[in-house]
Amino acid sequence: MSDVPSMNVDELQAALADGATSVDVTRAYLDRIAAADGELGAYLHVDPEAALARAAEMDSAGTRGTGLTGIPIALKDVVVTEGVPTTSGSKILEGWKPPYDATVAARLKAAGTVLLGKTNMDEFAMGSSTENSAYGVTRNPWDPQRIPGGSSGGSSAAVAGGLAPWAIGTDTGGSIRQPAALTGLVGHKPTYGSVSRYGLIAFSSSLDQAGPMARTVLDAALLHEAIGGYDPLDSTSIDAPLPVLAEAARRGAEGSLAGLRVGVVRELGGEGHADGYEDGVLTSFGAAVARLEAMGAEVREISCPAFDLALAAYYLIAPSEASSNLARFDGVRYGLRVGDDGARDLDEVMALTREQGFGPEVKRRIILGTYALSSGYYEAYYGQAQKVRTLISRDFSAAWDGRNGDGVDVLVSPTTPTVAFPLGARVDDPIAMYAADLCTLPASLAGVPAISVPCGLSEGLPVGFQIMAPALADDRCYRVAAALEAALTDERGDRGFLDQLAARAATTEGAA
Ligand code: GLN
Repeated sequence: MSDVPSMNVDELQAALADGATSVDVTRAYLDRIAAADGELGAYLHVDPEAALARAAEMDSAGTRGTGLTGIPIALKDVVVTEGVPTTSGSKILEGWKPPYDATVAARLKAAGTVLLGKTNMDEFAMGSSTENSAYGVTRNPWDPQRIPGGSSGGSSAAVAGGLAPWAIGTDTGGSIRQPAALTGLVGHKPTYGSVSRYGLIAFSSSLDQAGPMARTVLDAALLHEAIGGYDPLDSTSIDAPLPVLAEAARRGAEGSLAGLRVGVVRELGGEGHADGYEDGVLTSFGAAVARLEAMGAEVREISCPAFDLALAAYYLIAPSEASSNLARFDGVRYGLRVGDDGARDLDEVMALTREQGFGPEVKRRIILGTYALSSGYYEAYYGQAQKVRTLISRDFSAAWDGRNGDGVDVLVSPTTPTVAFPLGARVDDPIAMYAADLCTLPASLAGVPAISVPCGLSEGLPVGFQIMAPALADDRCYRVAAALEAALTDERGDRGFLDQLAARAATTEGAA
């Protein structure tokens, strides 16, 4: 089945329902991984024998040919998997095999999916380029000299390169949407609390969400439905039914957006706020907005003044929570331990382990966060950042509610200010690296859902279009994204960029 790596998941489902075997499908991905991952570096862990054994088991299951039975998947290495190495991209967890499954992993297992492997990521999900992994960089299948985004860059490279049909990523400040945008994929950050965090290695607990990364809006919706919904094991899980997502994607693909009210966020690339945004990104974005209008949407500009402060607030809140969450890595409970032979006492074991186990970006965040939380500075930094967070939520509420009933249904922006940048270009400049998250941070801080869908190419590289919606209205993101995707797919006859994406995923002689 040589065309498998270019197939969407709904096509794989049809093939499996038609009698294809999961073993053949899985083998096609494993072959592609063997051919291309040496260059891409998308995976940290692949166990071909285990994957094929699981595929064979699914081929003889009673559910064969239905649902997600036998469909392969890749998981970001921040998702805890029972008996399967899980490092979160850090040396400090090298060799750790978790004794349990994250809820996301357990649900995917119960649905019959086949785990292809665990994908590379910035250490503890801190980064925007996947250059902060302790295990080496991941490359962008569109241009191996460029970054695949981050922190879920292993997942984005795997799916864009045809090394997995879809993957799970996590998004704290943009880590699903930004890598999806930079590799031409669909990536959705669910409403905070609507996908369980149980078994995700915590970075910033008030922001972390797992979500789907896929080649189409429908695939992303199918994956979201498989992992989402209430989980008593997560204390912040929302006890409400998940909106119907795949159906929203199918409806959206029919193309009409009559009556949909769309707000273009001025602070995210609009007039007076376009510093650092590439022209090619703004042009693609503008053309996509015009398409929404052509499909019947009412478009207008909305100002969300507090969004200008999102970056500063996020880079206080996320490191503060990280400094607390990462205290658990003490050389005693998990993974690496340094100083067994010769350390004076337990404190020294902890210090040596953390010194050698954490990379520079993680240390930077722990120091920043510890400082921001320290007495005397708490109010000036962490307290202020929390107030900004409230202002950002209010900007969203004002956009939805409007004055006199003139609110909007969704807010839109580019997903990232630039296309994928060259490897190494920002490693020595943390502020430039953090700027990659400018557009994704507001939705993270407010906990609202946001999707990135490809909207074109700039200089041959993918551009992402972000759609944000009110909390629990994830279905709206999928509906609008599917409409835009359908409008662009019509260009396939002209070899539109979606075709290029499919062709790229099917290239078997490596990624170049
Ligand atoms: N790039 C952002 C950071 O470094 C977001 C990361 C994420 O969403 N996990 O914190």
